Formats: sequence, C-alpha cells, structure tokens
Amino acid sequence: MKKHNPTEALVSRLIGDTHQADDKPIIATPRPAYLAGVRDIATDSDTHVEVDFNEAGEVRSIVGAGLFADTFSGDAVDYATKFINSPAVKKTFGLRYATLVAGDTQEYEAFTRVEFKQVANVRGFASAIPVRGGFVHVFIDKQGDIIQVNSTVRHGRKPASIGKVITQEKAIELAIAKLGIPSATAVKCTFVLSSHENKMDPIYEVTLAADEPKRLMMFLVKAKDGEVVYAENKLHFSQRRQAGVGDPTLLAGIAANTFLRIPTYDPKQPITQQVSKAVIEGTELKNPKLLANDRYTMLVKENGKWQTVKANAKGTFEFDPLSKDKVEVSKFSAVVAFLWLNTQDATLESWGAVKVPRAIPVYIDDESVTDNAYFDPNAWEIHDGVGSGIENGGLVKHISWDPGVNLHENTHKRNAAEAPGKDLPGEQGMAAGEATSDVYGDLLFDLWMRFKGGAILGHTLTLQDIIDSTGVIGQYCMAPSGIRNQDNKAQYPRDIEHEEHTDGLIIGGAYFDLMRAMATLPGTTVEDVLRNNGKIYLNGTRLLPAHKVLFTDYLRAFLTVDKTMFGGVYKDMIVKAFGDHGIKLGTVVPAKRKTGGKKTGGKKPNRRKVA
Ligand SMILES: [Zn+2]
Repeated sequence: MKKHNPTEALVSRLIGDTHQADDKPIIATPRPAYLAGVRDIATDSDTHVEVDFNEAGEVRSIVGAGLFADTFSGDAVDYATKFINSPAVKKTFGLRYATLVAGDTQEYEAFTRVEFKQVANVRGFASAIPVRGGFVHVFIDKQGDIIQVNSTVRHGRKPASIGKVITQEKAIELAIAKLGIPSATAVKCTFVLSSHENKMDPIYEVTLAADEPKRLMMFLVKAKDGEVVYAENKLHFSQRRQAGVGDPTLLAGIAANTFLRIPTYDPKQPITQQVSKAVIEGTELKNPKLLANDRYTMLVKENGKWQTVKANAKGTFEFDPLSKDKVEVSKFSAVVAFLWLNTQDATLESWGAVKVPRAIPVYIDDESVTDNAYFDPNAWEIHDGVGSGIENGGLVKHISWDPGVNLHENTHKRNAAEAPGKDLPGEQGMAAGEATSDVYGDLLFDLWMRFKGGAILGHTLTLQDIIDSTGVIGQYCMAPSGIRNQDNKAQYPRDIEHEEHTDGLIIGGAYFDLMRAMATLPGTTVEDVLRNNGKIYLNGTRLLPAHKVLFTDYLRAFLTVDKTMFGGVYKDMIVKAFGDHGIKLGTVVPAKRKTGGKKTGGKKPNRRKVA
C-alpha cells in the first residue's frame, strides 16, 4: 500500500484507460506533477477548476469557467493552440514530450471542438507516425470560453528506431488467420505506435471485413513479431445473439401502436396509401420513381439481386403488407423504414445534428441476418434481417416494421458522425453506444412520434406520459416483453457482463432515468424535454474523449452540455440519474496556489469575451 495522499480521499473512482477489464473501480492517485499543473491553471485564470484523472494518475478532462486568461481573438484553433502551449497546460497533461499536430476541427451550435492528434517522429521514418488513441480536444464556447479539455495523450518511451518489422501484407495475413475466415479482406491497415506498459510499440491496426458470416473486426498486430494482441468487434447489432421468448398474442395490438404511429395517420384511410403519401410529401426523392434520397437508398432483393425500391405502376409507393408476394412485402417494409429513418434525421438536424454527407444503403429483409439488424460503420450500411418468429424464440418475421430497430441502428450512424473517435471505442464505449441507440434512438423518437402525431392518435403526449413511459426496446419485434428494458436498476460495476447490450443497460438506465426526471422540471414543456434530451445526447457525444470511452466520460460531457447550453438546470438530475446506476465522477478540485507565486502577479479575474 502506497503512502496516503491527501487528494486520494476526494477521489471516489478513477477514469480508466488501459487494456484491463473496465469493471474494477480503482482509487485514483493523481500524480503530483499533473496536479501542480492544474493548480497553475486555477491560479493563472483565477477560476474554479475540476479535474478527472485516469487510473495512471494522468489528467483525462478539465472543466472550469474561463480556464485561459488570454484574450480570445475569434480564431478557435489559434486560441486552443496557445492554450495547450502554455506552461500550466503542458504540465497538466504531460505534453512536454508529446508531439501534437492539428486535427479535425468542428464547429457546432454551442461550441467549437479543436482537435490535436499525437504523432511521433522516429529515426528512419520520413513522416511522423500516428500514436494510437492519442488526442487532445479543446472545446470553446461562443463567448470564447474554454469549457472543457480532454486528453488521451499516450505516454511511454518511444523507440529510438523501429528496426526490422513485418510487412503490411504479413500483418493482414496474421489477422485473417486469427479471425478464421479465409475470405475476409482488409478494409484498413495503419502503421501506428501504441502505448502499452510505458512503451510505444510499433503496431499494425488492421480492420477486416467478411461477408459470410458477416464480420467487421479490428485487430492490433505487433509489427516486430506479428503477435495479435487485441481484437474488437466493430459491427453494431441490435441485440445480443440469443433472443428471449415473447408472447405473440399481444402482437397485433402493439403493432398498431408502434409501426403505424405515423404523424399524419388517419385510421379511416388505408395504411399503405398513407405511408406512401407521407414518403412522397415528406422527403425529396432524387428520382420520383425510386425510393432513394440524399440520406438513404432503400434496397430489397428482387430476382436474386439487391435493387433500389421502384415505385409501382401507379407511380406511388403503396405496397401491400399482407401480399403473398414476398418482394411486395419487403417493399412495404422498405417504405416504413425509409419514413422513420428520414423523420429521425430531419428532427435531429433541426436540433443541431450534422448532415451526414453520404447516402446510406439500407438492406431490407436481408436473409443472411437472422433475428437481428446491424449498422456497419466501415461500409456505412444498415442491414435489417429476417425474424425467425416469436413462437420460435426469435423476433417477428418483419423486423423492419418495428421503427425501434432502424431508429436504433441509425443512432449508431449518428455516433459515428458526431463522436471525436468516429464511434464510441472501448468496452464501455460499445456499451454506451448500444444504450444511446436504445434511449436516444428508440425511446426518445417513440415519444417524439407520439407527440407530433397526438392530434391524430387522439391523445397528445403529456409530461406525465413521459414520466410513466416504458423502457421496453423492441415492443413490436419481440412483443410484449421486448429485447431489453432501459427502465432498470442495473449498477456499475456490479452488473458488467462484458457484452455490450447487457452492459449498456447500466448507462442506458441512467439516460432513461434522466429523460423522465427532466419532465419534472417546473415550467417545462413536452417539446423542451424531448428536444433538450436530443441536444444533451448529441452535444454530449461530441464532448467525449476519442479513445476508450467510459461511462464517466458521458457523465462529464452531459454536465458540460447542461452548463453551456441550459445554464445548469439539469445538473442535479444528471448527477442523480448516473449516480443511481453507480456512475460517479472521481473529480478532484485542487486548491489554488498561494498568491505571490511566480505566476500571475495578481491578474484580475478573467472575463474574456469575443474580441
Ligand atoms: Zn446496436
């Protein structure tokens, strides 16, 4: 046991960043050198600084008001660059020996995210080698205040020279052997340095794709000896492979309340006409005869080939869901899915989401996928499978009729588009990805549809309806118990099972508790609750670190969004919702240095605004 550190008592748990399992809470001991840096920032800017450490005692995130005393010129990249080059910040994040280069800067509604990527210059290499997972992200609000800084800079001794390494082809061959599917192909292979046990090892990061069976896996192959040291699944399925058994008797009633919940639905009119009309009026088709726009291309298998859904002889998209013709039914399913996917994107975009600059192919009734659906973040495709029937322990045959399935998959796409890591990497990141898809995809949009369609459904969604709403995922496709329930008491770390959908129930339970708690805020409206949940999710995802996302990162990110966009009104609800599921920040609030130190000479409290 190490000597007692006075700051240790303040730290309830630590933010991890290692290869070890994420289910063991660790007591953080912030390294004194880094803590001294934070004190310098607090003194320089005369502000209150909060800091989250990782298990190595390194600073993962800092937040505060006015973290940087310099005047904001209006140029976020320039400002962030000056900030990370200041002595106090270099000390805080241990940047003295890290080489950072400009990354991908994104401007959002409430803040700008400035990215710096870590690289290393190694003798014998003409260009710098990327350091895997090494990033600094500086977030600057519209007033020019730095609202949060995240670092996943990787420490460890870089090799003086690399020496002899295996070829890229060999690394791919070894990864394919590990996967055990000879027909797999490499869709990406990058030579990087990866930090492990205080050393930077040369590694090939190889991503393999296979069609039968469908796989997308990332492998780390040591470049020196070809050892495969790590593998991670990159495909996002709707559910874990073993489905439970539902009760088919309630199916018909639930169907009417789920996939038929069209905002303009009129029970007196034939449903197919209405769906077709909603598609034609609500979305801009590239070609009026094809079910494709700038967001989606809807595909069904016709004559053994995947083909874009064509309008019928009348030039409409009215297809009969009860037809004996399988292709006709698939086309109906494609229309339903198209409607929900576009509704979700249009709504999120109105809440500040980025417009994804590519059309996603959506494969309907893909027979190679049983009782599941998936988003492929490499090819950017959605595949809806075929259910084997609730009576057989699977899902309903027409999986696509459950809007929740596509709303879930589409949220995986959203995470890939908004998160700084281009997805949510790491074990807890994967679990959080499933949870965002369930809560901010399926449940939030189910409520949104009920809200927008209130007049036609005969009941306008109330705040009490939100508070009383169910957390059941897959209400139609596995009626009535569903695939999962986000209204739960799952706890970190007790309920970690190392399966992403199950582990996701922990943070998903927190998200869903928060959503319902937000409906209790005095003076709020249904629209406020739903939109603000959407904004907290979207902007929270943008505020995550880029490497090995943790549940606590979402807690920190949500608190920053709340403070920046909503004046902190949801703070206590956020802390309670996450805390009730065992997710708590191990924040340290370091005392400032005594005045009269070497630093500032009595600078005024900093109140910078845009110059
Ligand atoms: Zn999923």
